[in-house]
Amino acid sequence: MKTLEITKKILKQYNIRADKRYGQNFLIDDNILENIVDVSNITDDDLIIEIGPGLGNLTSYLLNRAGHALLIEIDNKMIEILNNRFDGVNNYTLLNQDILKVNIDELINNVEEKLNKKFKTVKVVANLPYYITTPILFKLLQESARVSEIIIMVQKEVAERMVARPKTKDYGILTLMVEYLAVASIEFIVPNNSFIPAPDVTSAIIKLIKSKRYNVTNEETLFKLIHASFAQRRKKMINSLESTSFLDMSKHDLETIFQKCDLSLNSRAEELTINDYIKIIETIKL
Ligand code: SAM
Repeated sequence: MKTLEITKKILKQYNIRADKRYGQNFLIDDNILENIVDVSNITDDDLIIEIGPGLGNLTSYLLNRAGHALLIEIDNKMIEILNNRFDGVNNYTLLNQDILKVNIDELINNVEEKLNKKFKTVKVVANLPYYITTPILFKLLQESARVSEIIIMVQKEVAERMVARPKTKDYGILTLMVEYLAVASIEFIVPNNSFIPAPDVTSAIIKLIKSKRYNVTNEETLFKLIHASFAQRRKKMINSLESTSFLDMSKHDLETIFQKCDLSLNSRAEELTINDYIKIIETIKL
């Protein structure tokens, strides 16, 4: 049976509707679902984490290929639905939890202990609830040592911000943080009629492969510098930084630093690459 028919049948059978509060937009296009698992290169050595399995539309494709899937769903109405839909399937662990409140690496350990198996690769594959895309993303990129690849559905605009080039309007904090922590690529665009209900926006599948390509003495300071620089993105960076307390530097000190880094004193935040930000932080030696 096609995913669209299954979705309609489940919604009717349980007499439920998509819950806007939880950002529920169910994927109903089988070609898109197939493409998501294809670009995720899933093998049976992989542990897949799905955030928000919902009715199980993507889950059903994931369970066909993954060694095991850890499903984390906040909406308790979905738990019974998922257990019924995947009755007899035994390569998943379903948790009724809020992704923002769990310790992901601890959950991975629990699954591995239960199965008495260590997974080579842990990937997150998910059609994310858009209202919390950014906190989920940073949690996956910064807090988990085990998740190595992230293949997620996000709003097209958010995907474009992740891979933006300097001196464009999309280039900003998200771009620089992603650039620092991962290699990002937009895999394909997903039209809004691939979901029910159809969201107001176009979506995209983005792939992030975590990568430690840059060496920084103090990451926290780098992140603070990026945030402070973009606080007023239209201003000259030196003027924005002069008023930030964490640096506590005069305009003259900042000008000396920029000169040492070979950067124009007129630079704006959106003109500098991640290497420029790293150079500044290493020159200040905070
Ligand atoms: N994976 C399903 C699909 O593709 O059809 C549903 C995707 S829907 C866009 C987002 C899912 O995330 C919903 O099932 C929603 O209940 C769940 N969700 C929302 N907030 C969550 C949270 N904080 N933690 C875990 N799941 C959440």
